[in-house]
Amino acid sequence: RSAVFAPLRELGLIVVDEEHETAYKQGETPRYHARDVAVMRARREGIPVLLGSACPSLESYANALAGKYRLLELSARVEDRSLPLVQIVDLRRRGRKRRSTAGASPSEIPWLSGELQEEVGKRLARGEQALLYVNRRGYARVLQCSDCGGVKECPHCSIALTYHRAGENLRCHFCGHSEPLPVACPVCRGARLEALGAGTERVVESVQKAFPSARILRMDSDSMARKGALGEALRAFAERRFDILVGTQMVAKGLHFPGVTFVGVVQIDGLLHMPDFRSAERAFQQLLQVAGRSGRGESRGVVFVQTRSPFHPAIQFARHHDYRGFAEQELEFRASFGYPPHARLVLLVWKSPDESLCRQAAQIESGELCQRLSGIAEGGGVLPAPIARLQGSFRYQLLLKTNRIVEAARVIKQWTEERLRRPEVDLTVDVDPVDFL
Ligand SMILES: [Zn+2]
Ligand SMILES: [Zn+2]
Repeated sequence: RSAVFAPLRELGLIVVDEEHETAYKQGETPRYHARDVAVMRARREGIPVLLGSACPSLESYANALAGKYRLLELSARVEDRSLPLVQIVDLRRRGRKRRSTAGASPSEIPWLSGELQEEVGKRLARGEQALLYVNRRGYARVLQCSDCGGVKECPHCSIALTYHRAGENLRCHFCGHSEPLPVACPVCRGARLEALGAGTERVVESVQKAFPSARILRMDSDSMARKGALGEALRAFAERRFDILVGTQMVAKGLHFPGVTFVGVVQIDGLLHMPDFRSAERAFQQLLQVAGRSGRGESRGVVFVQTRSPFHPAIQFARHHDYRGFAEQELEFRASFGYPPHARLVLLVWKSPDESLCRQAAQIESGELCQRLSGIAEGGGVLPAPIARLQGSFRYQLLLKTNRIVEAARVIKQWTEERLRRPEVDLTVDVDPVDFL
């Protein structure tokens, strides 16, 4: 990311590969988006900039449609490989069937539908490899008390702790807090704690049950934490020392495994319903990327997507590998709600360990600022952030929408310089935010 500032003389070209990656945005001061900096730097130096992606961000695509960028398209896949066949496994049907027959049959394996198991079985019998994608690491999303419904939250963040079986602990995926597994419910002292939702560890457990003789490799930021572990794992899988790879988005990114003919998306629904206007775009990109891991060898790949939202546009358009169709519909949605790339956003976040000070500061200051911005930007009102408390700080936010970003930025900058200093409340201003949690 920071290479975009490299002091090179006689720069002739800037290439931004995977330009849609959110990692190009630096989330801390100085906040910048490396792709946008690259575009700006190229313009100032009078040189071309090449943004590459199999699934461009809607911002870049809209710029291409508007003629600001030139669109260069690859009309054929590498080596003329055909696109994988994507099939949707509707999990809703299953839920009903299970209820009506009063309980699952004993042979049923949690998280893996019969269709998915059958397909994986076929691949294994042919000596091919399968890849299973899960959008969460750890064992279970939460540990919930069956008696009172209580869920253990992080003491520093308003987020449920994730259950990790490997270390027999509960961990916060936002601040890193970890604590031993409770033996009883912290609220009612009940002893029946139920693990809800699946992460990679739990899916591996199911895969072991379904295919006891298969060699399974788990790939997520926990299992790959050791330096060099990822490289070793990738090599081992490429050399076919494993049959099934279970992993998070880590496995979706640009990896080339000719032995993989089947990709199973075990779980994606969590991504579809994030409190973020880009959630559909993210899910679509993720699906397209992970689907692209299937059938990179001789035989055509097959992809199964397990979901309870089979008609969600991200899933339907990904099923047909239809980027244009998705972009068209999504751009329309963005325009009708005034979201980027139709408009620009500025996110202000007030943070403080003291909730009432934080809320007061946010309310008073957002009022002042919105007054100064009247006619230039529109504010939606102060709200608690989706994660209302993070690392011990309460957070209130104001989202501004504008079509006059240069003016708006000038007004906001001047206001931040003139505003009353409140040492107990921290304020951050993020232009073109990508993280809304
Ligand atoms: Zn309880
Ligand atoms: Zn936390």
